[in-house]
Parts: sequence; structure tokens; C-alpha cells
Amino acid sequence: MPAIYSPSLMVTKSNIIVQAILLIQLFSRLLIAAPISQPKLVVVISVDQMREDFFDRFGDLFTGGLKYLLEDGVYFSEAFHDHAVSVTGPGHFSIGSGRYPGPAGILSNDWYDRETGSYVYCVQDNETKGILTDNQNNSYRNINSTALGDWIRHKTPDSKVYSISSKDRSAIFMGGKKPDGVFWLDNRTGQYITTDYYMKRYPRWLKKFNRSKPLDKYFGTEWKRSIKDLSQYDKRCRKDDYPGEEMLKKFNGRTFPHTLQKPDKGKGPTYEDLWNFPFLDEVLLDLAKVIVDKESLGEDNSTDLLNIGLSMSDAVGHSFGPHSQEVMEMFLVLDAYLEDFFNFLDGIIGMEHVLVAFTSDHGSGYLPEYAKELGLGGGRYGSKKRRDLLKLNNELSREFGMGSYIEAFSAGAIFYSHYLMTAKGLSRKDIDSVVIPYVKKLDWVDGVIVRSKLESEDNLTELERLYKNSFHPDKSGDLHVIPKPHWISKTSSGATHGSPYKWDRHVPMVFAGYNLKPTYVKDKVRTVDFAPTIGRLLNLEIPENVDGKPLDLVRD
Ligand SMILES: [Zn+2]
Repeated sequence: MPAIYSPSLMVTKSNIIVQAILLIQLFSRLLIAAPISQPKLVVVISVDQMREDFFDRFGDLFTGGLKYLLEDGVYFSEAFHDHAVSVTGPGHFSIGSGRYPGPAGILSNDWYDRETGSYVYCVQDNETKGILTDNQNNSYRNINSTALGDWIRHKTPDSKVYSISSKDRSAIFMGGKKPDGVFWLDNRTGQYITTDYYMKRYPRWLKKFNRSKPLDKYFGTEWKRSIKDLSQYDKRCRKDDYPGEEMLKKFNGRTFPHTLQKPDKGKGPTYEDLWNFPFLDEVLLDLAKVIVDKESLGEDNSTDLLNIGLSMSDAVGHSFGPHSQEVMEMFLVLDAYLEDFFNFLDGIIGMEHVLVAFTSDHGSGYLPEYAKELGLGGGRYGSKKRRDLLKLNNELSREFGMGSYIEAFSAGAIFYSHYLMTAKGLSRKDIDSVVIPYVKKLDWVDGVIVRSKLESEDNLTELERLYKNSFHPDKSGDLHVIPKPHWISKTSSGATHGSPYKWDRHVPMVFAGYNLKPTYVKDKVRTVDFAPTIGRLLNLEIPENVDGKPLDLVRD
């Protein structure tokens, strides 16, 4: 029996000590049982097309926000998107929802829809319309899922959830079903906009922000390398001028400095020209500050969520490739932008109350010209693909009679004409028997995956598993085609992503702030783990259909 309940009335010195120890033990248990503190604000930052190795290659040069993440965060060095079609829509869907994109019906950014015979956009919503704009019909309405913001509001309905990006799909997928506001850039007008799915009229602060024409100040700006010692770039990158980089007139060719041209006399600015410069990310972080300030994010004890999708690294990466001096400079600039933003959050809320969760929607591959120089092979299959598919249709017509057997090549798969198959009494196996040997011989194709394989659960290879996570039984095509490494769909210049190869899927994943203990974790993790990890930290109810698992984060 514990001494504290001893019937002895004799108070001795040792008795007092024992009782004191027991009281301390009881008190510490009570402390453990007490509600755990919550961050006041979660800021999710997704940097479009950020490869994990950018931290390795440029990390020693970071002095600002990216250095803070690297040194003060819980850094997962082996985080991968676990699906084959590694593009923005599916990537942001996984980041926001913790689910694999394919089974949820997100095949790619857009894909061929067999029912209508046309292409659908991943966040298309024909029921909605833009506020003050006529050309917008995007929202989360048709997405059969919830996201982190919805889980937060399920627990604390007065939590606020906002999501912003230059790209609609990035903001929408991270924003979830019922956020307070989701805003993205209208390239035509240079204004941040939304649709009536989210709200009926714009908040005053957004009108004011837009009225200030925040993009206009950049026209006429020269973008140049910020480090005087140019050998720093040569050490970490290819030479500045390289075959295969985009030769954009608006960008002053393919070497630094790049100047954002002023509009011609009498003409308004062309806001699309801002893509390929870092500047739109600075404007977006300015908008983030306005939202934090005007909507009082992080002010009370109900955790708020702000999702920020920074897209300019994707635009620069597509034009110049991940080994370009432009991409390196892009991240040096982003390092400074994020330093300013984190300083703002620290001043207004305090980083001990802010959880920063940082990742990317996908990586990217070599410029094929550079891969070839390195002896890795590679090429551009964009223009070959169309010709190859036409020839394939001729083969099928020779075998089964004239007809259009191929409806589309979309989301990594060939779509056969089911109408023609029914009309001619042909099975998928019949068509496969002609298509597979033909496709396997093409110089840009590594292999194929038949549909029945993706419909099954058993004995899947690693590659098949990745394709299964990008596969939907009703929506996907008939035969998935795996391009060879370093063969990309871009036709004449530029780099891209979208393949199942690791360079397109390996991304940084960092959690910082909120007094998290700086840790470097080498375990292999998945981007579907990202949202559940935040969910568990906030003690949220995580939906059963979530594929990710919460990762351990330790606080100091
Ligand atoms: Zn991209």
C-alpha cells in the first residue's frame, strides 16, 4: 500500500519526503494529461518543382528562410511522391489530402475523359463562375475528398483556412472542401481572384490589394545573378548558355541578365511575361501577409491554416532545367523572400506558435541535351508520339479493319476506342496483342503496364505500384506506357517532370517552428504522410481513407 494512505499518524521526516515525491509524480501526470498546446497558425508552403537536391547543391549559400528550414526544422531527406504521374495537380492533391491521387480520380493536371470525348481539367467545376471575371470555373466541388483544412475545421469550426497560389490548381487542392478563401492569379488582369464556390464577393482587403496593381512595379526590372563571384554558379550548375534551354524573347534569351520588358507604348502590361521571373512569389508572400494581418490568423487559440503555393520555380525550371544558373538564382531569391516572410510571422505571432510545413509538388528531370552530355541518353518524344500513334492506328487497321482505334494518349496511358472494340467484337487483349509489341519497339519507350495488372493488388513491382497510385479503374486509359529515363514530352526545348523516375518524385519535406527539435531524418517517407503528420500534431481526426501515416516530430 502506498505510504500516503498509511494508517500511521506518526509524521516522520521520511514520510514527508515520500509524500512529497508522490505529489510530484501525481502533478507531473496531471501535466501530461492536460491538453497539449497547439500551434496558433500552420503555414503550409509548397514550392513548385523543387527537387530535394537543391538543398544539397545550394544549401551552403542559403542565409535566410531556406537556411532556417534546413537548420532549425525536422528535415526529411528521403521524401517521395508515391505516384507515377508526377505533375502539379496530383502532387498538390496528395500534399493537401494525404491520399494517392489516382484512386481519388486525379489522373494528371488534365486528362482525356472517355465519356465526353474531351479533356477535363483537374479542378474543373462547370457549376461555378468567377467573381467579376467570366473565364473561371474552378473549385474543389468535384473532388471526392477532404483536406487538412477540413480536418482542422471539423475539430475547431472557428479556425480559419486560406489557400493562395499563382496557380489555381495548387491553391484549390491545398485549400480543401470548405476553406474561408482560396485565391489565385488571373494572368489576363494581374489580379488575384476566386470563384463563387468559395465566396459571393471579394473581401475589402483583396480589392485593395488588387487595386494597388502589385505586379506592375516589376516591368522594366533586370534579373541578374546576386552573387558577384560567378564561379559559385559554375561550380554548382551548367554553364549559363546551354542548348535546350528556352530561347524566350520576353526573357532576353537564355543568359543572365534577364529583363522583364516594359509594355510597348500605349499598351498595358502582359502579366504572363512575369512567369519565369521570381517576382510573383514575392507578391504572393505579400498577399499572405495581408491575409495574416486582416484576417487575424494566429491570433486566438483555434489553430488557423494558411496554404501557400509558390509557383515560379516551376516556370524557371521548365524553361532552363534544374541544373541551370537560373534555377540556382531562383532559390537564392526565394531564400531571401522566405526570410522576410518568416521574420514577419515571428514579429506578429512568434515562430514558437507557428508551424511551418514545407514541401514540393514534384521534382524535375535533366534537359535531355544535358543528360546526353553526361552519357545518360535521353531525348524529346513530344513530336514523335503523335506520329507513332498514327502509325500504330494503321497497324491496328491492317489487323482489324479500318477505324480509329486510339482515342487519346493521356495521363501516361493509351485510351483505346471502346466503341470500336464493341462494334467489332474485340477484347482489350486483342488490341493489346498489336499495341504492346509495337509500342515496346519505340525508341522512347521503356515498357508498358497492362490494365489488368493495375486492377489487381498482387505481386506489383515498385514501378507498377507507383502507376497504381495514379490509376483510377473507371477513368484511366487502357495501356500505361513508361518512357525511357531522360526522355521527356517537351518538343523542342525546356525541361519537365511527370515521369515515375525518382528525380521527378524526390522532394524536400520539412517541419519547422513551434519549438520543434531540429532533426535530420533519413528514413524514406511519402508526401501522403505530410498532411497526417500535421493532423496528428494538432490532434485531429484523420479520415480513414487517408493513405499516409503520421511521422514523428519531437518538440524541444
Ligand atoms: Zn511543371
